[in-house]
Amino acid sequence: MAKYKLEKLVDMEKLQKLMDKFYNITGLPHGVLNLEGKLLISTRWQMVCKRFHSEIPNSQEHCITGFMKNREVERGEDYILNQCKNGLMSAFIPIEIDGEVIANFVIGQFFIEEPNLEMFKSQAKRLEMDEKAYLESIKSVPIVEKERLEDIISYYKSLAKIFAEMGLSKIKEIQLRNQVEVCNRQLQEELKQRNVELQQNNNQLLEEQERIRQVKEALRESEEQYKRLVELLPIGVYIRDKERYLYCNQAGARLLGAKESHEVIGNKVSDFLKFTKNQEQQFQKDYEDVIQSNEKPFSQCRFLRVKDKKYIYLEGIGARCPYNGENHMLIVSQDISDRRAKERLRTTVVEKTRQLNEAVAYEKLRTDFFANLSHELRTPLNIILASLQVANIILEDMNITDKSENIQKLFRYKDLIKQNSYRLIRLVNNLIDITKIDAGYFQLFPKNCNIVSLIEDITLSITEYGRNKDINIIFDTNVEEKIMACDEDKVERIILNLLSNSIKFTPKGGEIKVNFEDQDKYVLISVEDNGIGIPNDKLESIFDRFVQVDKSLSRNNEGSGIGLSLIKSLVELHGGEIWAHSSWGYGSKFFIKLPVKVLSQDENKNMDMPSGTNKAEKINIEFSDIYFS
Ligand code: ADP
Repeated sequence: MAKYKLEKLVDMEKLQKLMDKFYNITGLPHGVLNLEGKLLISTRWQMVCKRFHSEIPNSQEHCITGFMKNREVERGEDYILNQCKNGLMSAFIPIEIDGEVIANFVIGQFFIEEPNLEMFKSQAKRLEMDEKAYLESIKSVPIVEKERLEDIISYYKSLAKIFAEMGLSKIKEIQLRNQVEVCNRQLQEELKQRNVELQQNNNQLLEEQERIRQVKEALRESEEQYKRLVELLPIGVYIRDKERYLYCNQAGARLLGAKESHEVIGNKVSDFLKFTKNQEQQFQKDYEDVIQSNEKPFSQCRFLRVKDKKYIYLEGIGARCPYNGENHMLIVSQDISDRRAKERLRTTVVEKTRQLNEAVAYEKLRTDFFANLSHELRTPLNIILASLQVANIILEDMNITDKSENIQKLFRYKDLIKQNSYRLIRLVNNLIDITKIDAGYFQLFPKNCNIVSLIEDITLSITEYGRNKDINIIFDTNVEEKIMACDEDKVERIILNLLSNSIKFTPKGGEIKVNFEDQDKYVLISVEDNGIGIPNDKLESIFDRFVQVDKSLSRNNEGSGIGLSLIKSLVELHGGEIWAHSSWGYGSKFFIKLPVKVLSQDENKNMDMPSGTNKAEKINIEFSDIYFS
């Protein structure tokens, strides 16, 4: 099977026309046979063949074998001259393309010498053909001289050569076209592949774009959040270059004494804070350190704020931070002035507490000492008083009638011993009570009682003393009875103390009024005299301990300055108040206001006052400071 087909390489129609024209020159029928023996084109095929040889089965066979000769033309052979079995001559000139015979020009049929008519006659007989007609057609077959045949064959050879070249170029063209097609297909395939890749790349690009958009969005959101966060921070955030603020949040602006950030941004640090030379050098160094090594130690500094000339303590930390494409310094700072003040206060409090504890310890030592001393003093005093009592009984039993000066002196000295012992007992008692009150374990024994009669009785019981000094003592009340809870013993002491002071500081012929007023929720008791009075500037301090208006040793009256401070404490222990009005030279009036409380039966029962000194004794003790001449 031939690789190429002639009909594919050569325009057969044109070839037919060419061969027709050539027939006109040669008068020889001719055609082109492919290797399978098929006549591709033919011009004027011999009548003898058309009418007899190819129509009659037996001669047809001879024709076919003649045609088959066509296949035997081998590569490189010029031509084959063949005589078919029917006795006619033909020539096969190979058309060779690309080293392969793909078809043959066939020239024929012809004779190269006079035909042997006898042989053809017998052939006509054998093949049962019309002899006359057959021979007629045999005679029409041209006889070609050998030289002419050579020329004709050489023409065909040239033609075959031309065809070969034409075919070759066609083949090349086809090959080229095929190659181009293959290339095209490859290109298209590649293009398709590239398209797919491009599409994939495009999709990836779109995905990447979407991802970038999302990242940008997230970045924008986080930037927004970060900005808000920084703006909301209660601490100052700044970015600055060597000397100016490039950024500042609200809190930062306020820290510097500005209202808004824009008042700060672009301005110098020194426009807001004044620093010492040392601080300035330190800041420059910090700045260099941060820019070079991203290190800025935590620092605390005190500055003078330019805006309000106020000293503020700032605590800050810095770090390197890129801003607008350059490295600058980020500072986070807060005002610790309050903290510093608190720390200072805490230190002071600690110191004061230490001093207080020391004072309390010392006070306890003092109180204990006083308590011990007071108890130590009371024992010998009680012995003196008891001895004096015994001496009194003995003296009474002796029934001395001798009125001599010595005897009278003896009795006066006995009275002096008694009175001064009482004075000492009063002082000691007061000291003990004050010590107990200070130590917090002084106890009241309140009980429901008629406070009106309590005050009236104690007032009346000292009228005798008053009379001795020619002082009139009056008691007045707006109610006859007022039942309320109070420590009777302490109330008696309060009234006795006020009365003894009034007698002490009221000259002969004076008057003392004790008034009781029931005001429902509280009672108001006043002790008023028309004595020497108290200077205005001393009125406040007489309730303080050891205060005496006249401190001179030449004063007219004795006293220790404890009485009023003690009764103030006793009044306050009852939940009441004490105060005084006075006018210097005209007299004094002391007020006591006690809240009215009534105990339940149970509470009342439980409160039993420890048995103490009797009333006469109490009066003696309380009045022991007063000398009656
Ligand atoms: P003292 O034991 O010295 O009397 P007080 O505490 O009882 O101590 O009184 C303090 C001082 O108040 C007295 O020394 C006196 O100067 C003044 N004082 C108290 N009561 C009167 C009064 N009724 N009239 C004038 N001065 C008084």
